Amino acid sequence: MKTIDYSEYFKNKVLTEISRMFFDGTLEKDINRIPFNIIPKGSEAAFRCCVYKERAILKLRALAALGYSVNEIDEALPLSEYVSRNNPQFDYNSSKLLTVMESACSACVKSRYMVSEICQACLSRKCENNCPFGAVSIESHKARIDNNKCKNCGKCKEACPYGAILKISVPCEDSCPVNAVKKTGKGIAVFDHFVQSSLVFAVKIVLIPFASYIFILNIIYIFLIFFAIICFI
Ligand code: SF4
Ligand code: SF4
Ligand code: SF4
Repeated sequence: MKTIDYSEYFKNKVLTEISRMFFDGTLEKDINRIPFNIIPKGSEAAFRCCVYKERAILKLRALAALGYSVNEIDEALPLSEYVSRNNPQFDYNSSKLLTVMESACSACVKSRYMVSEICQACLSRKCENNCPFGAVSIESHKARIDNNKCKNCGKCKEACPYGAILKISVPCEDSCPVNAVKKTGKGIAVFDHFVQSSLVFAVKIVLIPFASYIFILNIIYIFLIFFAIICFI
């Protein structure tokens, strides 16, 4: 049976409410009601400590949907205030369009590798032999990873024939292909906008001219083929 992805559910609910109000012409008047329309009075908290926090996070989702960086705004102001401002700072070309809702981030534990109970303390000791940093040792008939030496390379996990080594993942970090998501000392995720900006810069300076060059070459090539066909006819 398919279960609901509640993260997508709430995101879609907020966007649907904003769109509906926008097309009804009531966005500025009604936007403050969005958290209450989605989590009505009398509801019980299903995901967080209380409904007030759940509604506060929906408010942040609405602000993000309006294009605001939620960590740079005054949360005390009502949503309607932000609608009336018409977001003069909103910049479609900004590298800061992504934003982390700190109060929604549950500060996942740091990504690391750990040895599970499945470890046989096998004779081959592939985990120990394949660790480039000497972080694995065998103690009390079980492999042990020294987190001070471990560099999270994953070679021990790949090498263990019993699948005894597990990776504790941080979903936001794992899903970013350029390592632009990092966690602060408190465990809260933040974006490294320098990496984002560098990527945008690389796309603008290198890839776009390169793609244009290939496009022009293709046009010339097609023209030459067309010209050759005309000549043969
Ligand atoms: S995956 Fe990242 S953003 Fe999501 S709760 Fe964990 S640390 Fe926070
Ligand atoms: S973690 Fe795997 S490779 Fe290492 S000692 Fe245990 S069973 Fe052997
Ligand atoms: S993840 Fe890499 S550095 Fe850490 S214990 Fe395994 S092999 Fe060694």
